[in-house]
Amino acid sequence: MSRIAYVNGRYRPHRDATVHIEDRGYQFSDGVYEVCEVKDGRLVDERRHMERLRRSLAELRIRLPMTLPALSVVLHETIRRNRVDWGIVYLQITRGVARRDHAFPSPDTRPSVVVTARNHDRSANERIAADGIAVITVPENRWPRVDIKSVSLLPNVLAKQAAREAGAKEAWFVDAAGRVTEGSSTNAWIVTRDGKLVTRQTDHAILRGITRTVLLDLLKDQGLRLEERPFSVEEAYAAREAFVTSASQIVMPVVRIDGRPVGNGAPGLLASALRRDFHKYADSV
Ligand code: PLP
Repeated sequence: MSRIAYVNGRYRPHRDATVHIEDRGYQFSDGVYEVCEVKDGRLVDERRHMERLRRSLAELRIRLPMTLPALSVVLHETIRRNRVDWGIVYLQITRGVARRDHAFPSPDTRPSVVVTARNHDRSANERIAADGIAVITVPENRWPRVDIKSVSLLPNVLAKQAAREAGAKEAWFVDAAGRVTEGSSTNAWIVTRDGKLVTRQTDHAILRGITRTVLLDLLKDQGLRLEERPFSVEEAYAAREAFVTSASQIVMPVVRIDGRPVGNGAPGLLASALRRDFHKYADSV
């Protein structure tokens, strides 16, 4: 089946889907994006993703070029046309096409909208979760507003590549004080020896992950102990469990950090249980 992409008002064969060379996303990374999970053909947590999108756009003063209900129709139609049962939908909005000049173009420049969707190999993903993943740590070198989900991801790209070259699946950024901020495309969590869940508080130094937010509801509901605070790399090395969260990976156990086994080196019981229970707390429409 050939893939279909939505580009600025039209559904096009994926292979022919293009934006102009002077799109500001291409020229300046001047845009934002969202990645939503699709489960059983349905969008997971659409409302929260759309709220975050609206916030990212507002922070960068990019206008939403259509209403949210219209955008929702496009997301669902892209999922339908690509027959996505279990996978992701990707949405990108840039400041649009204009003659190259760093300052904003004229206010009537129409933002560009691109939507793609694809299936994920569910059983491969479950196999990875059953084994757990390795992470490495890298120095934090991103701009101080990573709470905005901008397409400007060069440090994240380099960090993920460093992880891959080290035989790991994710890289955790570590700030100047030696504390983990988040992963290159995930939020970072540990479970301390006395069973407390720890993840960094949401400020400008991490992305407010939707999966992270849903998990907080779950933890509250199940009466699990949570501390929203930074944790150091040493704390992570000594943790009983570690895991990462994102829309595409849900809860993914971490079994090695910088080559050292976490806990007994196998996926943690808590991380595995949270992965299993996650969708009871996420919204599907
Ligand atoms: N942190 C970063 C840097 C990310 O890129 C992502 C997801 O892409 C996340 C955290 C997790 O966010 P979410 O749970 O909304 O997918």
